[in-house]
Amino acid sequence: MPSGDTGTLAYLAEPERIELREYEVPPPEPGAVLTEIERANVCGSELHIWRGHHPEVKNGVLGHEALCRVDELGEGVETDYAGTPIEPGDLVAPAYFVTCRRCAPCQAGQFHLCENAYENWSKPPEEPPHFHGTFATHYFIHPDQYFYKVPEGLDPGIAAGANCALSQIMFGLDQTGVDYDDTVVVQGAGGLGLNTIAYANEQGAETIVVEGVDGRIERAEQFGVDHVVDFREYDTVEAREERVAALTGGVGADLAVEVAGVPDAFAEGIHLVRKGGRYLEMGNVSPGHLTEFDPGLLTRKSIDITSVVRYDPWYLSRALEFLAANVDDYPYEDLIDAEFDLVDVDEALAASEGREVTRATLLPH
Ligand SMILES: [Zn+2]
Ligand SMILES: [Zn+2]
Repeated sequence: MPSGDTGTLAYLAEPERIELREYEVPPPEPGAVLTEIERANVCGSELHIWRGHHPEVKNGVLGHEALCRVDELGEGVETDYAGTPIEPGDLVAPAYFVTCRRCAPCQAGQFHLCENAYENWSKPPEEPPHFHGTFATHYFIHPDQYFYKVPEGLDPGIAAGANCALSQIMFGLDQTGVDYDDTVVVQGAGGLGLNTIAYANEQGAETIVVEGVDGRIERAEQFGVDHVVDFREYDTVEAREERVAALTGGVGADLAVEVAGVPDAFAEGIHLVRKGGRYLEMGNVSPGHLTEFDPGLLTRKSIDITSVVRYDPWYLSRALEFLAANVDDYPYEDLIDAEFDLVDVDEALAASEGREVTRATLLPH
């Protein structure tokens, strides 16, 4: 279905109110790519937006994780952002944000912090080219929005999630470093946590997950985590600190990664890391949620804290290659455990929030 046809999109008019709307699909502007959505995943941050908790995005066309099939190339587009030739029919994965290369963070080389990253997110659907989000039949990859051809043979369901959790984790862990023989505590075994386990494992690290939900513990084990600290059994910070110490020769972990998304998890992390260790904060993304924190302990232990949001856009290419190389060693295919028609988008969001499913995917065709 090329431009000129009619497509459908899911528009969040206000928190918790989604309207399905139809628009004519315009041709791509120069530098843009018109695609058809093969699959779009429901991500945790979609739930934040849906509920009205995202700090910047309150309405607009929903969806950011997707696998797309190229329909029409805008003038001047001949390759993806790695220089691989692209033609209609190819499967591509887009970064979910724009990298303008002109704002202050971009000028400082901090592409992951681009001030214009969400430029196309909060646009109303009336505004051409209408298809600003991936919960839709069509999607426009804008100029300055990095995208990559999906490696041959990579499962579409797995490729659809590469532009979010895995890219994010690979970028974050490359900032802190994760070395052979490091011990890594992973706080939370959701999508970010499982990808942390897989990536740390491939670097030769030993992994410890802190989690308290049976299904999530099972998944972490299937992803090859070396140790589990079940917080139902170790039910205080002190107990978990002692357990992690016992698993790390009495010293604490070299690195901890907060991907539980709970403020108290951040306060706890510095108890689990050794003196001189590193701590990566990525899970808490909604400002205004507070916790009690012990800065004196931080100083005494001299822990390096790193926090990151989004990723440098070429990490998407690395994430796709990581998946192509390692997909047989981790049960990525089991993570997408529910499929919904686009028209049932409300149901897909509700099921994802209730954690009945790990990752729901929307099929628009
Ligand atoms: Zn996402
Ligand atoms: Zn920028």
